Amino acid sequence: MLSRGRGRRRRRRGRAALGTSPAAPPPHCGQHEQGQTECDLDRGDQRTLLRLGCRRQQGGHRGEQHGEPREADGGTDEIGEARPAPPRREQDQHHHDDRHRTQGDADGDRQDVSDDRRHSDILGGRGSGCREPGSRPGRTVDAYPVGVGRSRGEGALVALLLARFVRARWGYRFRSRQQLDRWRRRRLGAFLARIHRAPFYRDVARSTPLGDLPVTDKGVLLEHFDELNTRGVRLADALGVALEAERTRDFTPTIDGDLAVGLSSGTSGRRAAFLVSPRERMLWAGTVLGRLLDGASVRQLLNPLRPPVRIAFFLRAGGSLYESVASSRIRFSFFDLTEPVDGHLARLADEARRSRGPEVLVAPASVLAALARLSRAPDAPNGSARIAPRLVISVAEVLDDEQRRAVREAWGVPTREVYQATEGLLALSCAYGALHLLEETVWFETSWLDAARTRFVPLVTDLERRTQIIARYRLDDVLRLPSPAASGAGGGTAKRCGCGRFTTVIAAVDGRADAVLRLRGADGRELVDVFPDAVRQAVATARSNHGDWRIRQTGLDVRVALEGASRADERAVTESLQALFARYGCSATVLHDPWFAPEPGVKVRRIVREEPS
Ligand SMILES: [Zn+2]
Repeated sequence: MLSRGRGRRRRRRGRAALGTSPAAPPPHCGQHEQGQTECDLDRGDQRTLLRLGCRRQQGGHRGEQHGEPREADGGTDEIGEARPAPPRREQDQHHHDDRHRTQGDADGDRQDVSDDRRHSDILGGRGSGCREPGSRPGRTVDAYPVGVGRSRGEGALVALLLARFVRARWGYRFRSRQQLDRWRRRRLGAFLARIHRAPFYRDVARSTPLGDLPVTDKGVLLEHFDELNTRGVRLADALGVALEAERTRDFTPTIDGDLAVGLSSGTSGRRAAFLVSPRERMLWAGTVLGRLLDGASVRQLLNPLRPPVRIAFFLRAGGSLYESVASSRIRFSFFDLTEPVDGHLARLADEARRSRGPEVLVAPASVLAALARLSRAPDAPNGSARIAPRLVISVAEVLDDEQRRAVREAWGVPTREVYQATEGLLALSCAYGALHLLEETVWFETSWLDAARTRFVPLVTDLERRTQIIARYRLDDVLRLPSPAASGAGGGTAKRCGCGRFTTVIAAVDGRADAVLRLRGADGRELVDVFPDAVRQAVATARSNHGDWRIRQTGLDVRVALEGASRADERAVTESLQALFARYGCSATVLHDPWFAPEPGVKVRRIVREEPS
């Protein structure tokens, strides 16, 4: 094992000679508009300082970090038992100290370069090109034309994006589920062969099957953050960059040169940080655009004589992931979700009046529904009715039937869904309305929640991410399959969707595990799980208006808050929920709380079970 480590170091040195210095300022693109956007080079000094600062800190702390004992912490799971992390050896410490020395030099002569690092260094490492300083609501990113004024590295990243776009849209076609599975197993093998690049898995033998790796979750990720990424980024540094970005609403800073940092939504407990490299951003963007863009948008995209495709993007944080995709053919408008939604609607209406309304609208489900409701309201801002997105994409939150209906009524289009956690891109809906797990790039294992095997918590292994390893990562979400007859995710289904894919279709993401109400059973002893889809259905059928609602379980009580509801509405919802609970063989006291609009920018979760504190 040690000799393998030495060999790797030798190879890395060889590669480092190919890479440009990470501290060297990026080339000027020469295409940004004066006064509108700011080129990377203008920020060069600041960025170089940031990069140097991070690496110096790494150097200063790595020794003590790695001196700490590493605990096995796998959690438990039905399908994959928790196994202790591989034992730590004396030699590892030496290897690390050696690594530490080479990495600690912040003079640009860095020798310890992972594959990813090398890739981005050779490529120039920056996919984003010009960026506007700060992250203000409603700003527009209109970057330079593809292939003009870009460095060779940026050109290569764009080529990667285009290749993935083509493959995601027209490729990945298989004759049978068996053929798809054979291909996936090969990808899994390749992933397992390189997993030891993250120190956490250093001692994993190449032949180790996935099921023998420890189960990970947010706790493991936070505890072993430094060892679960292949770039030696420390958790404190990553969190520092991410939290500062949230505070200043400027999401352009990166860490270790070119890594974007994302934070998990953190509705409870500690927030986890996630690292994304430019290569991973391109693959993400290529996949999402390739799979979701409608035919008319693709034709517009490919025709240089037509205006660029305009995409309005409602984000809670950080457009840097998406800015990297901006080109002369795609134009993004960002709307900061920490600002009130009606202000955004006025701005959208203004753009529509100038015939520059978005063709594609991307927002969390609750924001889409609010925009749809606002744009149909009698006192809507003048001209808002002219917002006519061709494509509406729901992200970040669970989309329910009510919200889907609101969108269809407002704009006459179906809503496409992106199921994505900070942990990765997990599922996308197809043109036939089926929500396909992204089994081409993610390996799913299932931890069943019910005897009928319709609901499960997934363990995900991202086969493409190379910066931060996500392997057997237990998500908080509950996924639901269409019917008991459908066979499980990962186990494979032989059914082919109308779109031609064999990948597993899920009926819905039922939300996080704590969106399952847990109520006292009729016999008074057992607790009974009531799943969120049933609760949503019960609330939706009982109400007379289209207002928003929320439900939270505190202790054994169920507290409901309805927007703009009359007493009669409240009574109807109470009766509907009681009837539902009776069908489930359980009961609860239903109480009504006054309605408060959610804080702007807070991720909305309609159903939450609060753990007793
Ligand atoms: Zn399909």
